[in-house]
Amino acid sequence: MSKNRSQLKVIVLGDSGVGKTCLLNRFVRCEFSQNYRATIGADFLSKEVILNSKHISLQLWDTAGQERFQSLGASFYRGADVCILVYDITCQKSFESIISWKQEFISQCGPSNPENFPFMVIGNKCDLDNQRAVNQAKSYQWAKELNLPLIEASAKDDIRIQEAFLEASKLALERE
Ligand code: GDP
Ligand code: MG
Repeated sequence: MSKNRSQLKVIVLGDSGVGKTCLLNRFVRCEFSQNYRATIGADFLSKEVILNSKHISLQLWDTAGQERFQSLGASFYRGADVCILVYDITCQKSFESIISWKQEFISQCGPSNPENFPFMVIGNKCDLDNQRAVNQAKSYQWAKELNLPLIEASAKDDIRIQEAFLEASKLALERE
């Protein structure tokens, strides 16, 4: 059974600098700028997509740099339908943070059924394969064991961005 929802709240978490804001700008505005600073200037960006032949309005929530202090307000988490966890394939520490961001989400958002809540992991900056610090085979294996869908993507070169966000949206729709 799928939810009869026309709006989905998508939140994006991960260490500062992994490329969350760039991913959202790529997906929503089809652009990339090397010089973005912390915020998108609003609580969320909107984008209409068609999923399972239905028009869905995505509300995409970015942090405004507060992730450095792990202190995102309650409104950020409230009513989230899916959580995208982002790391940078050139930064091992950002990969190791994924699990604590997932825990943070569960404790702050308090989804009714944490075991079933949809998460999606994006390994960003796959254009920088020559600077890779996170082994690709190992990360896919890790994700498989944890039952987390993982997609390596690049906001800069527009690699698998649509795929990643649409997959995350589908997971949200399929829940329940
Ligand atoms: P945030 O703190 O997670 O929101 O990260 P930003 O979106 O502000 O990006 C941090 C830095 O990473 C910026 O200098 C971006 O230009 C760079 N960046 C973001 N995405 C990519 C990518 O796909 N490839 C490369 N090479 N750099 C990226
Ligand atoms: Mg940002």
